[in-house]
Amino acid sequence: MNILKGIFNLKKIFTLVLCIIFIGLNAQKKFTIVLDAGHGGKDTGTKTYYSDLGMVNEKDVTLAVTLKLGKLLEQNKDIKVIYTRTADVYPTLGDRTDLANRVKASLFISLHCNGAGARKAPYGTETFVQGPDQNDTNLEVAKRENDVIYLDSEDRKKFSSYDPKSPESLIALKLQQSKYLEASLLFGSYVEDNFVNNDHRLSRGVKQKNLHVLRLNAMPSVLIEMGFISNPTEAHYLASENGQNEIAKSIYEAIIKYKNVVEKKETRNSSFNSANNTPTKPKEQPLKNDYRVLLMSTPERFNTNDVALKGLNYIFVMKENDLYKYYYGTTNLASIRDNNVKTAKGAGFRNAVAIGFMPNQSLANGYYTLELIVTEKKLGSDSFILNLLNGVKRTKKHGKFYYTYGNFKKIEDAIDTMKTLSKKGINNIVIEKVE
Ligand SMILES: [Zn+2]
Repeated sequence: MNILKGIFNLKKIFTLVLCIIFIGLNAQKKFTIVLDAGHGGKDTGTKTYYSDLGMVNEKDVTLAVTLKLGKLLEQNKDIKVIYTRTADVYPTLGDRTDLANRVKASLFISLHCNGAGARKAPYGTETFVQGPDQNDTNLEVAKRENDVIYLDSEDRKKFSSYDPKSPESLIALKLQQSKYLEASLLFGSYVEDNFVNNDHRLSRGVKQKNLHVLRLNAMPSVLIEMGFISNPTEAHYLASENGQNEIAKSIYEAIIKYKNVVEKKETRNSSFNSANNTPTKPKEQPLKNDYRVLLMSTPERFNTNDVALKGLNYIFVMKENDLYKYYYGTTNLASIRDNNVKTAKGAGFRNAVAIGFMPNQSLANGYYTLELIVTEKKLGSDSFILNLLNGVKRTKKHGKFYYTYGNFKKIEDAIDTMKTLSKKGINNIVIEKVE
């Protein structure tokens, strides 16, 4: 019987491999989602024993929710679902990310459960996206989810040389972040919103964390911690049919919302390129104002790639009354504005708020200028900036030298000049409003 079973399993594996190859060739046309049920096989994940439930294993909960979520998604004709596992087996972390990259997935979702050891109190959901570690409180998650890699010799080979603190890793991390962070944050915020609004769960938020299973993915990716197995109430919820169905439905609805937003953006972009494009949906009316999301206001001058800005792109800095105001994104569409606020909040800027800017408005009093650089030492005659530009103004304040350039009535003119200068190699320019 065992031999027969073995042959049957081999056949199943062979078919699965063929399917994956076939899917790989056809994946580009559809919205492809890779569902990754965390842990599996010899790796149980976190676990807690309850007298009425028996042992609640993370690997079983992740698989059950994955299969339920997959069933919902498969009802959509324009969505392709690919599973890293559909049984109690352990694919290596390398297998999981390789698969996602090979099929050129649009979205990668890794499902997990939290555990707090013997502590019963902690509960709630949280979603992680790849990014710089914000603080040490997430360290336990990284440790637990990353520890898995040492179970497998293949993983050990792949990850042993990886040092998150090495400059190369930081560069790789930065590249990955800038490319997929915004989309991952947006999707993560939809998931957490649904857990709160649909299922009345406690959300611990969308967080950035350096996790291997996300790091190697070349697509927007999230890791969802669906609740704490160490908390008795949540363990019962996670182990129940009803709880698993609710979680699957909330993630499903987040996927559909995210897919609609992403595809809307793509149609909008393509309508700029194609002259005889006939849009099927009514176009969103642009607003009178341009909107930028204010992240923070501080006397500190950060470069736009500083970790303080949590890896967000499209940063716009404006100085007013000695305060630097950091803004994220620019749009005149309400839907994109609202998504930008979500993305900013997801990145950790809890008080992010959209601010309207009236376009092409001339300042009645005062002017805009470009703050090129702030230095402790006076720039020498060999300075790149001073050699490139005529009419750079220098002022000394609080022991620092401020170099500014130009005088503009409209913010748009200041931005145009800023763009020209950045093409010439002067970056991290701040627009200063002088009144
Ligand atoms: Zn896990």
